[in-house]
Amino acid sequence: MQLFETEIEFTQHLEGLRADNLKIGMVPTMGALHEGHLTLVKRAALENDRVVVSIFVNPTQFNNEEDLRKYPTDHDRDIGLLKGISEKIDLFRPLTAEVYPYGIQAGQYELGALETRMEGAFRPGHFQGVATVVERLLRIAKPDRAYFGEKDYQQLLIIRRLAQIKGLDVEIIGCPIVREANGLAMSSRNERLSKRLREKSGLIYRSLRSAKELFGTKSALEVKEWVREKYEVVPELDLEYFEIADATTLEPVVKNNYSDKCRAFIAVYANGIRLIDNIALN
Ligand code: AMP
Repeated sequence: MQLFETEIEFTQHLEGLRADNLKIGMVPTMGALHEGHLTLVKRAALENDRVVVSIFVNPTQFNNEEDLRKYPTDHDRDIGLLKGISEKIDLFRPLTAEVYPYGIQAGQYELGALETRMEGAFRPGHFQGVATVVERLLRIAKPDRAYFGEKDYQQLLIIRRLAQIKGLDVEIIGCPIVREANGLAMSSRNERLSKRLREKSGLIYRSLRSAKELFGTKSALEVKEWVREKYEVVPELDLEYFEIADATTLEPVVKNNYSDKCRAFIAVYANGIRLIDNIALN
């Protein structure tokens, strides 16, 4: 595994690979790797000749200073985990000045209604920051395929749109959510939870599963109300939003229309740590 920290060295290396006609898969991450990330990397290694993993904690997508400051990092552990997967993997871990040579600022993207809902509504500017860093990373690496998790489902839709509006020549591949034993979606932020809260947070997935069951017989509004009541009696978990939305447009579902694909989305604070999850309903 080679580690690159500058754009120039990294792109020279990739040009060599492309000259040999090798297919390149990319997995952009913010590090503190866990099995969720590693599943993306393993899939990329199966489907491509070489894999580039990027680790960059992108300042422009954080709308909360403390969240950025406390974001976990463990470079040695990350490198060890990646080395254990495959010899096909290289790591791009740029400094901020490499990604933002003209100053740390998000671009402006026409993301439409996708960015006004849920994560976009509660984290203003977040998706502009995501689009900025993902466009930059994809333009540097020019992979054939790029892998993203459905854990951040709204982000996945935004990135598909980004690729479309910017004409990026890359196949965007969405991968299923990887969970801990109690159903909690794996996340780098889980490391900040106490053992007790990690256990308690199992409710997030359990409530999504129940919502899925109820969705067969109750209206979207009734399901939303049912979930809201569930959290009212759990003081450790603060429900920020629970939404049922069209899986393609993210328009909130008012009447259950079984011919359209619907998804439930949730964001919960556990002792100030923000956790998100989602599930396909039909
Ligand atoms: P992050 O490091 O949180 O920016 O995540 C990097 C990539 O890994 C994103 O595409 C995430 O959606 C994906 N990812 C993070 N957690 C999971 C998970 N539990 N299951 C599947 N993909 C995940």
